[in-house]
Amino acid sequence: MVDMDKIVSLCKRRGFIFQSSEIYGGTGSCWDYGPLGVELKNNVKRAWWRDSVQFRSDMVGLDSSILMHPRVWKASGHLDHFTDPMVDCRACKKRFRADKLEDDTWVHYCEATKGNKFAVPAGEPCNHCGTKRTLCPACGKGDLTEPRQFNLMFKTFMGPVEDDAAVTYLRPETAQGIFVNFENVLQSMRMKLPFGIAQIGKAFRNEITPGNFTFRTREFEQMEIEYFVPPGSDEEWHQRWLDERFAWYPKYGIRQENLRLREHEKDELAHYAKRTADIEYLFPMGWSELEGVANRTDFDLKQHAQFSGKSLEYFDEETKQKIVPYVIEPSAGADRGTLAFLVDAYREEEVKGEKRVVLNFNPELAPIKIAVLPLLKKNERIVETAKKLCTDLRQRWHAVYDDTASIGRLYRRQDEVGTPFCVTVDVQTVGDDKSPSDDKVTIRSRDTMQQIRVPVTSVETVMAKLMAGAWGEIAAEQGVTKN
Ligand SMILES: [Zn+2]
Ligand SMILES: [Zn+2]
Repeated sequence: MVDMDKIVSLCKRRGFIFQSSEIYGGTGSCWDYGPLGVELKNNVKRAWWRDSVQFRSDMVGLDSSILMHPRVWKASGHLDHFTDPMVDCRACKKRFRADKLEDDTWVHYCEATKGNKFAVPAGEPCNHCGTKRTLCPACGKGDLTEPRQFNLMFKTFMGPVEDDAAVTYLRPETAQGIFVNFENVLQSMRMKLPFGIAQIGKAFRNEITPGNFTFRTREFEQMEIEYFVPPGSDEEWHQRWLDERFAWYPKYGIRQENLRLREHEKDELAHYAKRTADIEYLFPMGWSELEGVANRTDFDLKQHAQFSGKSLEYFDEETKQKIVPYVIEPSAGADRGTLAFLVDAYREEEVKGEKRVVLNFNPELAPIKIAVLPLLKKNERIVETAKKLCTDLRQRWHAVYDDTASIGRLYRRQDEVGTPFCVTVDVQTVGDDKSPSDDKVTIRSRDTMQQIRVPVTSVETVMAKLMAGAWGEIAAEQGVTKN
């Protein structure tokens, strides 16, 4: 498993992810997606949207606003329950999550060794005096306050007056935008149970301890589905969605052995949930949540019906009864997903005695699909042909032209950002005084480093097949072996 520092450094060096407001020292918990990062993340979101909405007849999409009526958060329970218990150090004033105090090494001035300072591993007692941590884990000196509940929602004001009546919140989840639009979607789209509404959008949580790069941030993007089912069929649908979502990640390249399911314990369940299971990924910092799939029961619709006074029921034509549907919620993180795809794609190999770093992205997710490279940048006919070919390919794929280094270096650069195919235009392609042009170009595969030669006029047709995974077949036809 690659360590996170390598991923962070590659991301910065190659334009995937930068620290937010870096020239001002950064914010510590916000990140910006650079030119390649935005392509990658957009591709992840596009794949999710296509699979969740466009390929299904029982799903529709939604894009609701970030700012909502403040009563939404009272009804949803976020105003009263979306809190973490916090303690403060009376000496150094640092703030900690009360339930995470034992998760890190703690500083200890040991009486048994004349007050020498030690860093004691997480959760363990001191080797010398045998005591466990009671004081501040960071400074080792201060008393900690009693835990206080700290709401994780970002508070703001709607309109020009900053008073209590204008208080609202940045949404802490996209789900509520779906619940409050349940009736609108039901009526306008004439939906029949079971059906789902999908949404991708930003959410905000004032996390006390953000960290692990883009894994836990205060501003993040969710990809959420609320799937409405008749009560009684909820358990079966929950399992179906778990299976479906678990199979989604390997479809785009995540290795099966890096995924697992983790069932929530009864005391860990959110107040609205009947059952929740997390799809976890083996990130560099260990197994962590990639997506949660929860059975939210009829809690949200009933709450919003009660608080808004509007009926949020479904009329069942068969039984002629009004019912409140149950909800299955597969809730994925676009940032976490993107990070997992990045980490899983990272490879270091040795090729002819040199280190090769490669991101073996599924072509669907790769930020750049094709790089068109001229073998000689001083040969006008080569450059002209390459640029024209790149322009043509751009009509269909994200293609780039690069002539800023030798061909070997250009290949390595494209490997490092995960470009699946390079197309090289050389002297043979355009011909010279000695030999006529063959009008063919070389296509090189990132994964096998094999090369095939195809007519310029059929590059697009061949490329379509290659993007769908036909390299082995086409290379075999040409009798190509690994070089
Ligand atoms: Zn302290
Ligand atoms: Zn001690």
